[in-house]
Amino acid sequence: MSEMIPTAAVPTTPTTPQVGFVSLGCPKALTDSELILTQLSAEGYRTSKTFEGADLVIVNTCGFIDEAIKESLDTIAEALNENGKVIVTGCLGAKTGAGGGNMVLELHPSVLAVTGPHATQEVMDAVHMHLPKPHDPFLDLVPGGFGEAGLKLTPRHYAYLKISEGCNHRCTFCIIPSMRGDLVSRPIGDVLKEAKALFQGGVKELLVISQDTSAYGVDVKYRTGFWDGKPVKTRMLELVQTLGEMAREHGAWVRLHYVYPYPSVDDIIPLMAQGLVLPYLDVPFQHSHPDVLKRMKRPASGEKNLERIQRWRELCPELVIRSTFIAGFPGETEEEFAHLLDFLREAQIDRAGCFAYSPVQGAKANELPGMLPKALREERRARFMAVAEEVSIARLQQRVGTTMQVLIDSAPAMGRRGGVGRSFGDAPEIDGLVRLLPPEKLSKTLKVGEFTRARIVSVEGHDLVGLPF
Ligand code: SF4
Repeated sequence: MSEMIPTAAVPTTPTTPQVGFVSLGCPKALTDSELILTQLSAEGYRTSKTFEGADLVIVNTCGFIDEAIKESLDTIAEALNENGKVIVTGCLGAKTGAGGGNMVLELHPSVLAVTGPHATQEVMDAVHMHLPKPHDPFLDLVPGGFGEAGLKLTPRHYAYLKISEGCNHRCTFCIIPSMRGDLVSRPIGDVLKEAKALFQGGVKELLVISQDTSAYGVDVKYRTGFWDGKPVKTRMLELVQTLGEMAREHGAWVRLHYVYPYPSVDDIIPLMAQGLVLPYLDVPFQHSHPDVLKRMKRPASGEKNLERIQRWRELCPELVIRSTFIAGFPGETEEEFAHLLDFLREAQIDRAGCFAYSPVQGAKANELPGMLPKALREERRARFMAVAEEVSIARLQQRVGTTMQVLIDSAPAMGRRGGVGRSFGDAPEIDGLVRLLPPEKLSKTLKVGEFTRARIVSVEGHDLVGLPF
């Protein structure tokens, strides 16, 4: 069964309505789940650990690739079988089915309601209709912990901060804009307020997410907002600078995801060199060859990415780059693919993920000529991953013998048997780890959510092994 969301901190009475909640998909979907759970909790609902124990179930779905669609549909079927009252939200909820209607309703007509992503209010309306909210004025408060930031589904020491919703690009392989709409940036004052509440609530690592972080504020023409009584532009540079200063006050990290290599990103690199934000960039390049990028209609496809990365590394030699790629895009020639492998080696991409191209229903790329056989797409993915691994491990080897700051994610028995953490080069869930050995000094303990320094002694697969001191 898919993992159920832990119980929210709301006191139960025999009549407290219970909602089962399953959250699938990417960090952006996770923040949608957090908003819904915060609202449920504020209204006095309780979340149930099992489908059977719930009065109804909400499934937040993902509709990005075929596997994710299958997982979402299976979860809906399971919730219907075990509970019967199901509300569906998220990206799959916005998809059209084979019959031209809503895909979820076509396949599961008995669900109570279906919404697209980022639809807290519609989900709450559906909940109210099928499970009236409890009347307890004392519960009409957002529960504490992160205050302004609401409930979080991540461990207490790290949190995702969503700065915008939607995207103005129309990459030919992607249907996100049709599900989430054009870019809408959150007001900078609201974003900074949430960040402050998170730091004050004990967050030690803030992960900035969106569909296109570098485009933050484009939709509002970089409007000037206010924070702490001072004017501040709705723009990536100002946002990152202010978040970095805030993080410094709280001894915390800021990590940037989904950054496209526009020239404006060059201004962020000095902030990394100064230690204001982590020298880590998650840049979804998808490919390197200009013709493939053009067919993909990628943002910043005209940029000279290799030269840009080299310049970034001159300014900030510590920089770790994570990226995702697609192998076997329609029409990809062997020469174009070889260009991608060369890019991977020359750009020294520290962490690379790769999908074999798979047609996504409703995506423009399906109409492109030159669809490659599945076996060839898979073979190219495997060749890509072999090179990616080689580069990544060589980069990790360079860390052996150095001392790194590690944020501790797990430390049973106060770290006496060691633990697990991450360095600045490792984002949670997607990158490697630092496996911590038991500290040499008996008096040294490790605690989840705290930092320790560790001497890196070896590389194990995609992970580092460190000796805390
Ligand atoms: S930038 Fe491209 S891949 Fe990313 S969300 Fe927008 S359209 Fe999709």
